Amino acid sequence: MGFRNIEVIDMDIIEVSNLNRQFLFRASDVGKPKADVAAAHINKRIEGCNVVPHFKKIQDFDESFYRKFHIIVCGLDSIIARRWINGMLVGINSEEMEQDGCLIPLIDGGTEGFKGNVRVMVPGMTACIDCTLDLYPPQVTFPLCTIAQTPRLPEHCIEYVKVLLWPKERRDIPIDGDDPQHVRWIYEKALERAAEYNIPGVTYRLTQ
Ligand SMILES: [Zn+2]
Repeated sequence: MGFRNIEVIDMDIIEVSNLNRQFLFRASDVGKPKADVAAAHINKRIEGCNVVPHFKKIQDFDESFYRKFHIIVCGLDSIIARRWINGMLVGINSEEMEQDGCLIPLIDGGTEGFKGNVRVMVPGMTACIDCTLDLYPPQVTFPLCTIAQTPRLPEHCIEYVKVLLWPKERRDIPIDGDDPQHVRWIYEKALERAAEYNIPGVTYRLTQ
């Protein structure tokens, strides 16, 4: 029952901040490729399961690779990557439909803060990622002059801290959105900024 032959592609390395929710990883795995550790964990735990890891980008593989699967599951973090794999499957499925062959469904999942979603598509046959781009939240960016000089929204205050204040005061440390201390620091500085301009609505939740 279920899928026993699985290949997993991931280009990331395990970081300490992943451990609170990425349950296949342990503290001793920090610094190793996620794909390798996840595959080893599942292979050990589930008898008869064969997971093959690829410490690579999805774009490193071509059509002949993707054609060999019955189903493709994505947990991607960008719209660009989603559109890439979607385009690949539109191509494969369109050809298959002409020859009455097997179509490959795409299962797309994602999270944003505490919210999550999952969708099943058959690119080339049903509405796909490209048909439904407006379902994804826009990547909000604010003009730098507004952030720096004329903030009006709580978001402007938070962006000010992330884009201008953090690099000035915390220098070389990259912002880690999973690190509660980082989020706390940004939240408190954004509150100060908001108080200065009488802007309500800065919350910890919004800062995340
Ligand atoms: Zn489409």
